[in-house]
Amino acid sequence: MDFEINTKGKNLFLGLATVTLLLMMVITTLLWWFVSPRLHEINKLLAEISLTALRIFYIVLILGTVLVYLTCFLEKYFLIARFAVVAFNRVLFPVTIFFGRIIGISKDKLRESYVHVNNALMKTINKKFKAKEIFILLPHCLQSTECDLRITVDINNCAGCGKCNISELIKLAKRYNVKIAIATGGTLARRIIIKHKPKFIIAVACQRDLVDGLQDVFPIPVYGVLNERPEGPCINTIVDITKIETALKNIISDKK
Ligand code: SF4
Repeated sequence: MDFEINTKGKNLFLGLATVTLLLMMVITTLLWWFVSPRLHEINKLLAEISLTALRIFYIVLILGTVLVYLTCFLEKYFLIARFAVVAFNRVLFPVTIFFGRIIGISKDKLRESYVHVNNALMKTINKKFKAKEIFILLPHCLQSTECDLRITVDINNCAGCGKCNISELIKLAKRYNVKIAIATGGTLARRIIIKHKPKFIIAVACQRDLVDGLQDVFPIPVYGVLNERPEGPCINTIVDITKIETALKNIISDKK
């Protein structure tokens, strides 16, 4: 797939994840080294089992990280890359964010970089989807604050005045025959996903919501598009619609 990818953007997260992984290995090895005499005293087998478990944990994480790197940089899909993403998401992601905060890198900067990593991984999926299997999920903050229409209940309540991006996005979804909805939070997003069972999601959100959403809906593939916030967070945000259209052009298998 040929999404618009910010290739430089992903390097911050990948670089910090590598440093985090090395630090984790050093710290856990030192911890084991300190407690191992005590473990030996309790039971010799216990010390050996804990060391083996630690080694397996390292191997899984190293393999996962290497596969994420290879997938991102060679832009080739590896058969076991999905396993790698699980290891990366579940273990390395939260620790990297934590480490980033300690050294003064903002959470949002790291989350943004992580969205680029995710999109680079999506780019390598050599699969297209039927239009009806694709869902566009939007945040409520795209709606103009001057608009009283209840578009969260049904996005088609939008009167199409053009004051915000919603009307253009509805037209885009109709043109490509894909489903579209507004999710006011993680719970609603999950409900929409359970109801419609999409195979591919294009999600628009801020850094925090997008990263939470990516993790929540895993293993459904998600192409993340960050919204822009000219008036600050959560109010009258905008989105570059060409990014969504480019993604649609590239993933729909049954274009008319
Ligand atoms: S485009 Fe739709 S949602 Fe946006 S302000 Fe106009 S009517 Fe409201």
